[in-house]
Amino acid sequence: MQTTRIAIVGGGLAGLYAARLLEQRGIHDYVLLEARDTWGGRIASASLTSRSLPSVLDRFDLGPTWFWPACQPQLDRLIHSLGLERFAQHEGGDMVVEYAPNQAPARTRGYVSSPPSMRLVGGMGALIDAVLRGLEPKNLVMGQSVRRLRCDGRHVELESEDAQGQVRTYRAEHVLLAVPPRLVVATIDFAPALPEVVMRTWRDTATWMAAHAKYVAIYDEPFWREQGLSGEARSARGPLGEIHDASMPGGSAALFGCFGVPARVRQSLLPTRCCARTAAPN
Ligand SMILES: Cc1cc2nc3c(=O)[nH]c(=O)nc-3n(C[C@H](O)[C@H](O)[C@H](O)COP(=O)(O)OP(=O)(O)OC[C@H]3O[C@@H](n4cnc5c(N)ncnc54)[C@H](O)[C@@H]3O)c2cc1C
Repeated sequence: MQTTRIAIVGGGLAGLYAARLLEQRGIHDYVLLEARDTWGGRIASASLTSRSLPSVLDRFDLGPTWFWPACQPQLDRLIHSLGLERFAQHEGGDMVVEYAPNQAPARTRGYVSSPPSMRLVGGMGALIDAVLRGLEPKNLVMGQSVRRLRCDGRHVELESEDAQGQVRTYRAEHVLLAVPPRLVVATIDFAPALPEVVMRTWRDTATWMAAHAKYVAIYDEPFWREQGLSGEARSARGPLGEIHDASMPGGSAALFGCFGVPARVRQSLLPTRCCARTAAPN
């Protein structure tokens, strides 16, 4: 059994940021346990060789793309402190709307967000990479899904499992769950059991954007911009309910769309060789 002062469960942005805060306060006696074999959680991206510069890898967001400094000041400060380069979402031009399945798409004046939605050069994955660079690798453990928390009054014992079913045990003074609450209820056992009202509240807490998945289409040129279109579209027909410009500055031209298809239907589809994936558990 490994003993540690603090155990963080979940290696998405919240868990990684918590680890960063601990290290900034001189606390190095912690472990961060992540179930998957990647960091970043819902911040997921697909890397492709740039069409314009074959030596460059373009990264396209499959999870979050935008941030809004005025609404997310803490995130804004983090991005600023990491020295990451930002740019505004391309919105100049008209948009296309498909109002009904049997109607031709109509061109109409595009929306302009104010303040603009901001993006990161290198995609949101650049944020995860930058936070990771500042953390001590020996404290970060991937492929360990926490299954059980047992509290004896003084310590919490965490039981985690890898893909082969091998169990590891950690003993911590404090545990931080950086996992969507609904997922905690579905995947982690508590001994003694947590009060029912807590479990019910967590079960009833929706995971933001959990029902969404993205599709990214890469093009040789941003042909829509040349036609005075922003790349933005809405469709009442689907399967992509909305579409936006996903081009990288100086990199590949691209559009991304969000599926308006329920997760259960998506999961029943055959996998395809493209950038679409479910970026979050339901
Ligand atoms: C398609 C999509 C688009 C989005 N767009 C935006 C956007 O434009 N702007 C924005 O601000 N937000 C957006 N979001 C929301 C944003 O992604 C999340 O709010 C944010 O990433 C949540 O981070 P987190 O660390 O709290 O959780 P998560 O990223 O969900 O991380 C939780 C981590 O815990 C791990 N985990 C789960 N259970 C266990 C366990 N038992 N043991 C160990 N590890 C476990 C998971 O594998 C995961 O890595 C979007 C989300 C999606 C899915």
